[in-house]
Amino acid sequence: MNERFTGTFTQQEPIPEEAIEAAVAVMRSGRLHRYNTVGDDPGEAALLEREFAALMGSRYALAVASGGYALATALRAVGVGPGDRVLTNAFTLAPVPGAIAAVGAVPLFVGVTEALVIDIDDLAAKADRADVLMLSHMRGHLCDMDRLMAVCAAHDVTVIEDCAHTMGAAWNGVPSGRHGLVGCYSAQTYKHVNSGEGGFLVTDDDAVAARAVMLSGSYMLYGRHLAAPGPEAFEAVKYDMPNISGRMDNLRAAILRPQLRALAVQVNRWNERYRTVEDGLRHTPGLTVVERPPQERYVGSSIQFLLLDWAPDRVREVVRRCAARGVELKWFGAAEPAGFTSRYDSWRYAPSEPMPRSDRILAGLLDMRLPLTFSLDDCALIARVIRAEVSAVFQA
Ligand SMILES: *Cc1c(COP(=O)(O)O)cnc(C)c1O
Repeated sequence: MNERFTGTFTQQEPIPEEAIEAAVAVMRSGRLHRYNTVGDDPGEAALLEREFAALMGSRYALAVASGGYALATALRAVGVGPGDRVLTNAFTLAPVPGAIAAVGAVPLFVGVTEALVIDIDDLAAKADRADVLMLSHMRGHLCDMDRLMAVCAAHDVTVIEDCAHTMGAAWNGVPSGRHGLVGCYSAQTYKHVNSGEGGFLVTDDDAVAARAVMLSGSYMLYGRHLAAPGPEAFEAVKYDMPNISGRMDNLRAAILRPQLRALAVQVNRWNERYRTVEDGLRHTPGLTVVERPPQERYVGSSIQFLLLDWAPDRVREVVRRCAARGVELKWFGAAEPAGFTSRYDSWRYAPSEPMPRSDRILAGLLDMRLPLTFSLDDCALIARVIRAEVSAVFQA
């Protein structure tokens, strides 16, 4: 009898009791809107921002309605407008090119390497064609950030980081989101903290922070923020920024504050699971493990491996056989986008040039979530299933 996995790849942990109690208190107060506060209570959203800035070591933080909203706000705040080109990863998720399209700009895709990070040589070749890079740390893989920042500085390219999969990660000790001018994060259910929907933006730049606060829909109440620049920064921008409402509310903020305090513990739990699967997959014939560089502190909330140069039918067969044993693999090489996986050539609103080297990687790329509801035994079992089915198809 073949072993079968019976867990659910989309099942997250419950919201912590402390967060539920805080949320109930906000609901009892009726004061859910972030600016609907009394006396000297700053409100949950303002407190959350102060705590997030402290966690990331940034001067400023803004909590917003979603990660995608944070990305679009960052683009607007650095001055990207209709018709501008924005460099971004060919391997990312739909909200990234979507944020670029939301401001009327046009993505210019940069290739992906076997390490699943942006191809810095390709970036250098294209860097003179745009002023901004929206760098997506897709599936938590960090590129050589020192080299990337040097290339961008040499070409005068402003970097906005998409840290939807790297909240809690770092490169050479610098938190992800703190290399570029702006870092953006998501608090959506599948990311590293869970408020259903939600996002953050961090920066040290006074003007960018003030513009972002105004854009998010602060009216003239920006003085209530605890992680925003002083009034002078707002004087300079307050008549020029449209209100594009996308605020964080006190209810979600209440749910998130205790989760931020637990983030470091959760990161360790994810990484135990990641290493268990990784160890189980190592030395499987035909399968390439994605090695993590020593400078990278990652968050293993998902894992990827490559079946490089396999015929599509055989990859499909691996996916089918693993699914039959309860192991859900997402394949980035499928002809049609499905679920959350789509490719640069599926975003037809964005022009793209053919990228054969990236296509080769995506054609062999398999991806799997590792929710914290999985035990280490679950992870070992999942790795045994994948190993057995990849070996069987490889040898057939
Ligand atoms: C989830 C995600 C986002 C956007 O987050 P939302 O909060 O869902 O808008 C951005 N980039 C990547 C890579 C993501 O996975």
